[in-house]
Amino acid sequence: MKILVINCGSSSLKYQFIDTETEAVLAKGLVERIGIDGRLKHTPAGKEAVVKEESIPDHNKAVSMVIDALTDPEHGVITDMKEIDAVGHRIVHGGEKFASSVVINDEVIAAIEECSDLAPLHNPANLIGIRACQELMPGTPMVGVFDTAFHQTMPEKAYTYGIPHEYYEKYKVRRYGFHGTSHRYVSGRVAAILGKPIEDLKIVVCHLGNGASVCAVKNGESVDTSMGLTPLEGLIMGTRSGDLDPAILQFIMNKEGLDIDGMMNVLNKKSGILGVSGISSDFREIEDAYAAGDPAAKRANDAFVYRVVKYIGAYAAAMNGIDAIAFTAGLGENNAKIRKEICEYLGYLGLKVDDEKNNVRGKEVVFTTEDSKVAALLVPTDEEMMIARDTASLVK
Ligand code: ADP
Repeated sequence: MKILVINCGSSSLKYQFIDTETEAVLAKGLVERIGIDGRLKHTPAGKEAVVKEESIPDHNKAVSMVIDALTDPEHGVITDMKEIDAVGHRIVHGGEKFASSVVINDEVIAAIEECSDLAPLHNPANLIGIRACQELMPGTPMVGVFDTAFHQTMPEKAYTYGIPHEYYEKYKVRRYGFHGTSHRYVSGRVAAILGKPIEDLKIVVCHLGNGASVCAVKNGESVDTSMGLTPLEGLIMGTRSGDLDPAILQFIMNKEGLDIDGMMNVLNKKSGILGVSGISSDFREIEDAYAAGDPAAKRANDAFVYRVVKYIGAYAAAMNGIDAIAFTAGLGENNAKIRKEICEYLGYLGLKVDDEKNNVRGKEVVFTTEDSKVAALLVPTDEEMMIARDTASLVK
């Protein structure tokens, strides 16, 4: 089947067009600056990328440009829109309503709408993408794949916050977790690479990108993860604070005269690696500054690594041991130094890094020694492939 995978944001739309029989990516692209001015970059497999700059007032125009690009006689990969067998949509928050991917119908759309107050920036944008596709591709089946779904197996003790239970009962305030599609894909690959059934494995997946989260996967199920009600909890991220003492909010708001929106903006956009270093949210710049002896870069680097290590320790306790630790996403896939620094703390687990094997980027590898008691792996994530697979299997 040929599946169009769509990841729709408020002003952007990423897509991949995947043949699920061969798992080949036939084309991919990005529409940016929707509602501002407009730019589409379309890359057909094995060919040069094409860029189109023209007015893109709304998502309907963006989707129609994607269809035009896919069917273009020169840069296209199909001749007719009808060759798109189904569309898979990435959806950020499924609340407690979705524990797996689903075929989208009116009921599902209403349920995604209901989850919108849990992800006010993301779910409405995802819905706009769904509606635009419905309008332009009527009759083409659509599937929703949720970032939160994989974590619905978390036990109550892991998702419960230490606040009055009535807030859960009234408003469903609990931990949900995100990056679920990535954690599911990577843990599945770990089992395949190690040649063991996932049902027998205790795996920690470290998804370390701009947004970052750690997940404990026991017997193929997520039993805990570092993000919570929103993607703000957990690790120190590119610009997000991760865990902190909630009383800090009031303290800083009083000192700086901030209202709650201003404070949340600081925690989401001005904190994390950017805030701690004062240099950048991008680890490449942190590494360069660190190498040049900048103490602020070292502070950010060390605090980031230490937080990851603490979560791995917590999940070793939660699962009563670890068989494998996998690293993925921008940093996890490209930064051997960070992988090494994290693993150096894990000698107590019997984990031993093979430096030569660790010296790679972006490809699957086990980078621990033969006698290491815990396997450490680099596994490039592929959320789009997972969305395409789910979509194909649900609409078949
Ligand atoms: P996002 O969560 O936005 O998808 P990414 O997964 O792209 O983020 O991760 C961003 C981080 O990964 C940045 O800190 C960046 O330094 C690092 N990164 C991404 N690509 C590379 C690369 N090719 N080489 C080194 N670091 C990279």
